[in-house]
Amino acid sequence: MPHLKRVNALKEAAFEEGGFDGYLIFNGINQLYFLGFPGTSALLVPPDGEATLYVYSVNYEQAKAMGKGFNVELVKANENFLAKIAKKAVDCKIKKLAVDALGVQTWVNLIDELGGPKVEVNNSHIESLRLVKDEVEIGLMRRAGELTGEGMKAAFEVVKPGAKEFEVAAQIEYAMRSRGAGPTAFESIVASGQCSAFPHGGCSGREIREGDLVVVDIGATYQYYCSDMTRTFVVGKPSSKQQKIYDTVKVAQQKAFEAAKAGVSAADLDAVARKFITAAGFGQYFVHRLGHGVGLEVHEPPSMSSTNKNKLVAGCVVTDEPGIYVPGFGGVRIEDTLLMGLHGAERLTTGPYNLKPA
Ligand code: ZN
Ligand code: ZN
Repeated sequence: MPHLKRVNALKEAAFEEGGFDGYLIFNGINQLYFLGFPGTSALLVPPDGEATLYVYSVNYEQAKAMGKGFNVELVKANENFLAKIAKKAVDCKIKKLAVDALGVQTWVNLIDELGGPKVEVNNSHIESLRLVKDEVEIGLMRRAGELTGEGMKAAFEVVKPGAKEFEVAAQIEYAMRSRGAGPTAFESIVASGQCSAFPHGGCSGREIREGDLVVVDIGATYQYYCSDMTRTFVVGKPSSKQQKIYDTVKVAQQKAFEAAKAGVSAADLDAVARKFITAAGFGQYFVHRLGHGVGLEVHEPPSMSSTNKNKLVAGCVVTDEPGIYVPGFGGVRIEDTLLMGLHGAERLTTGPYNLKPA
């Protein structure tokens, strides 16, 4: 039961070390992390005994069927949801309650309902747990990476002169979903021509033309876990400038990959790629951080930026995605999702790096 294990890990971190004796989880993704299925409204972890999950009638039967090891409470439409949780927290004799995330008004109401116990906003324990993926999560992310690779294979086949960006995206998404992927981790980016110079270039009805750079940035999900991968193509023969930009990004991405392992900081890895791109004369066109963490969310900690001096730990999953974007000319980005290990990183997204579609 990986999910109950995660609840116990939270108790260990937040109760034994953090000084809390209750945890109230409202963030939907955090609930998904501890439960493994969506549709619940809150999760209360008491000092002793089963955690209680709160769910409205629309999702009640599903929660009962899937929430093994949890106490499932039905919230009726006419019931005061917060009062119900507060009563339980007081019954469990919670004295210091951590709450992961809450709107301001709900926060005020919750404090009102609770009366006595001390309440603190705290997401750090859950964030630390989610940062290091367990074996089950790594298995799911590996599959998400494979499915994303299948999507990229489709891109290699369909990117050609006359194809519209959204047609390419449709073929990519079909290839992923028809093999068992969930919804995409984010809106697929197929950005051609001058739009390739916008890092978040979207996907329009533009027809791809001979000589275009085409940035394809996609991600499948598998059982709620995300993946993230980018390749850039040139339709037709690349110009020498396109080739030079491409080669620079490719080497920068590989250098960061080779330097990646537990104990190295995100800032160090960002610097590896940035120094190389700067030395090649394109530093001003690398306009974003090296990457970001990936998990249940496609953008989550750790940030792979020049300001994040924290050391990466084994089991965290991050992207390595340098890019060069020359306004009015076009852009190149190459991205893989990496699993950090003690002695090096493993690519969870794999696939050829050809500049020209096959
Ligand atoms: Zn991406
Ligand atoms: Zn990314």
